[in-house]
Amino acid sequence: TRSIADLAPVKSDSLLALIDLANADKRPEKIDVGVGVYRDSSGATPILKVIKEAERRLLETQETKSYLGGRGDVRFAELLAPILLGEHSSDERIAGIQTPGGCGALTLGFHLIKAANPGARVLVGTPTWPNHAPIIRGCELEIVEYRHYDRASRQLCFDEMAETVKSARPGDVVLLHGCCHNPTGADLDAQQWAEITALIVGRGLLPVVDIAYQGFGDGLDPDAAGLRAILDACDTVIVAQSCDKNFGVYRDRVGSVWIKTASTSSTATAMGHILQISREMWSMPPDHAAAAIRIVLDDAKLSADWRVELDGMRGRIASLRQRLAAADPQFGYIAEQKGMFSMLPVTPEQVVRLRETHAIYMADSGRFNICGLSDEQVDRFASAVLEAIG
Ligand code: PMP
Repeated sequence: TRSIADLAPVKSDSLLALIDLANADKRPEKIDVGVGVYRDSSGATPILKVIKEAERRLLETQETKSYLGGRGDVRFAELLAPILLGEHSSDERIAGIQTPGGCGALTLGFHLIKAANPGARVLVGTPTWPNHAPIIRGCELEIVEYRHYDRASRQLCFDEMAETVKSARPGDVVLLHGCCHNPTGADLDAQQWAEITALIVGRGLLPVVDIAYQGFGDGLDPDAAGLRAILDACDTVIVAQSCDKNFGVYRDRVGSVWIKTASTSSTATAMGHILQISREMWSMPPDHAAAAIRIVLDDAKLSADWRVELDGMRGRIASLRQRLAAADPQFGYIAEQKGMFSMLPVTPEQVVRLRETHAIYMADSGRFNICGLSDEQVDRFASAVLEAIG
C-alpha cells in the first residue's frame, strides 16, 4: 500500500520562491515588481481608510459570530450587485452569493459546469493567471488553449481568440478576463468584446467572466463594460468576482459568484447546486471583510470615499504606465494596457541578470507589477530593462 510518505514533492511555485528571494535581498536599491498586490508610492500595501473605519464600526457593533449560512453576507452581495452588474442588477434571472475570494467563485463556477455538462471544454487564452488551469482541472474539465497575447509583438492575438471560439463545440466554456488582464494587461476593446460576444452567442457557448480588478483599469463602470455586454447578449453567464484588490482585503478572502440563466427558476436551481458544492468545500465563506465591505457600501459617505481611494490606486497605476511609456518608445505599449500587470520582452536569463546586477525582482515570464515601482525607481527600472534587452 502507498502512504503519504510516498508522495512526490510538489513543484514549487516560482512566484512564491521569488518573494523569498526578494525578501532576503538587502541591497537598498532593490526593486520588487514580482508580487501581485497593489503598492502605494512608499511600497506599502495599505489597508484602505474606509475599511479601517468599517472595521472599527464592526468591532463596536458586532454582537455575535454565529453562523451566517452558505450565502455569506446577503446584504454584501445586494450592495455589490449594481457596482458589478450595472443595470443587470435588477434582472431576476441573475443571482449571486459571497465566496472566499475570486478563487472560491471560480471553483464554484467550474464545479457547477462540471455537474451540468461534464464534457464541456474550457477555452483559455495563454498566458493567464497561473491558478486558472489548476482550478479548472481540479473540476475535471478539459482545457483548450489558444494564444491571448504575443509577447514579442506586444499584441493581443485577437484573431486566434476569435478562431478558437468559432471552432468550439456548443456548450463549451469561454473563460474571459473582465478587465485588467493578468498577467499581460492586454484587454479587449469595446469592438472586440462585441465580436467575441456575438461569436459566443452564435456558437451556443457559455461565458465565464473572471473580474478581479474592477476599478483598476479605467474606472468601475468602464471596467465592467465587457461583462455587461456579455450579460446583454447571453442567456447563460457565470461571473467570478473578487473584492480582494479593489477593497485591498487580500488575506481576508472576499469575492462573489453570479449565475445568469434563461429563467428565474433555473437560476434558483443552479444556486441550489452552488450552495451544495460550497457546503462540501468550505461550508460557508469567511465573514470579516465582507461585513466590512457591506458597512462601507451601505453608508453613502464611506461608499463615496471608497471610490476616491480606488481612484487613487487607479491613478497611480495609470501614471506609472505613462511614465514608463515616456521613458522609451519600446515601452509605448505599456500605456495602452490596463491594470497592475504588464509583460516585458525579456528572456528568463535576462530576468536573472536583472536580479543579480540590478536587484530587480520579476517573474521569469517577464510579468511585472507596475505599482511595485516607487516614483523614484521608474527611470532606473526602465534603463536597466533597456540595457538587459539590448
Ligand atoms: N482571477 C484573477 C485573474 C486573479 O489575478 C486573481 C488573484 N490574483 C484571482 C482571480 C483570485 O483572487 P482572490 O485572491 O480573490 O482569490
